[in-house]
Amino acid sequence: MVQVIEWVNPGEDEIIWRYPNEVIKWGAQLIVHEYEVAVFMRDGKIYDVLGPGRHTLTTQNLPLLYKLVGGSNSPFKATVIFVSMKQFQGRYGGETQTRELAPVKYYGVYWFKVADPVLFITEVVGGQSLYDTSDVTKFIRAYFNEGMMKHLSAYSIVDLFQNLDMVSTQVKVKLIEDFRRLGLELVDVKIEGVNTTDEWRQRLFWIMQTGNAQAVMQMDTAKQVAAELGKSEGAAMGTGMVIMPQLLQQPAQPAQPAQPYAGGGVPPAGYQQPAQPAAPAAQQQEICPYCGKPIPPGARFCPYCGHEIKRCPNGHIVPEGAKFCPVCGAKVE
Ligand SMILES: [Zn+2]
Ligand SMILES: [Zn+2]
Repeated sequence: MVQVIEWVNPGEDEIIWRYPNEVIKWGAQLIVHEYEVAVFMRDGKIYDVLGPGRHTLTTQNLPLLYKLVGGSNSPFKATVIFVSMKQFQGRYGGETQTRELAPVKYYGVYWFKVADPVLFITEVVGGQSLYDTSDVTKFIRAYFNEGMMKHLSAYSIVDLFQNLDMVSTQVKVKLIEDFRRLGLELVDVKIEGVNTTDEWRQRLFWIMQTGNAQAVMQMDTAKQVAAELGKSEGAAMGTGMVIMPQLLQQPAQPAQPAQPYAGGGVPPAGYQQPAQPAAPAAQQQEICPYCGKPIPPGARFCPYCGHEIKRCPNGHIVPEGAKFCPVCGAKVE
């Protein structure tokens, strides 16, 4: 009876399959379907690799194994691993911390495929002794997550919430590099959402309103920031002038013209967005103080969380409970 080595009806999510019989006879029929590769291993080492087609195993198409078994024609021991070259989808989600240690949750989807089966088997399957799909998939997801955590933690919370597109693009480039090391091609990554705690959302709101991250970070809690702002009440009322608390004063403009970071890749540590005048920034980039997502300028309700957006008479977003606008100091009705 002729031995037939074939991966019969692989499931949609199956990445690898190990042929259960480790004793292989010369003359066996090896059937490798489209988008598959069959890899012959022995003692954790890869010998011969055969692509799609119907192969009769001979000394010609398994030259390395033939050499290994000393040119003998008797059955030999080998592990046959089939690898699917199709594209797979994975979901990810996890928690990390931003550069200023703000807790961040993230989730999304990624797509990948095996690009280099020999490297993939060496690094993942053989290297980790993972011989079934669920273990391999788990390993890849953990690896992805680890990379995502590491790369996201290089950013500030303002970048994550305000420039998520830029962050995604840059993180993707790094993850593609990480995946290549495993013989995998990371086809695409989508960050579907990022989130943080209530306290950090409030803090983020203040940072974006005032443009002064450092001052906000020095406050213990967002409530303290609000209290600080509340102190302007008497001054603003008495003189008819807007007296900003220390927090709201813009840092001095840098001497060189403000330019977006153009170096490509992750901005170097310590890089800060060039300071911008408060008013235009507040007009162009509004964020919802309740969910932290960017909202259309002038929106009365957040399109993401549905919360009503309170505004001062001059149109600035005002957090719940504030008596005075954090941007212009106007009294809020
Ligand atoms: Zn919202
Ligand atoms: Zn205002």
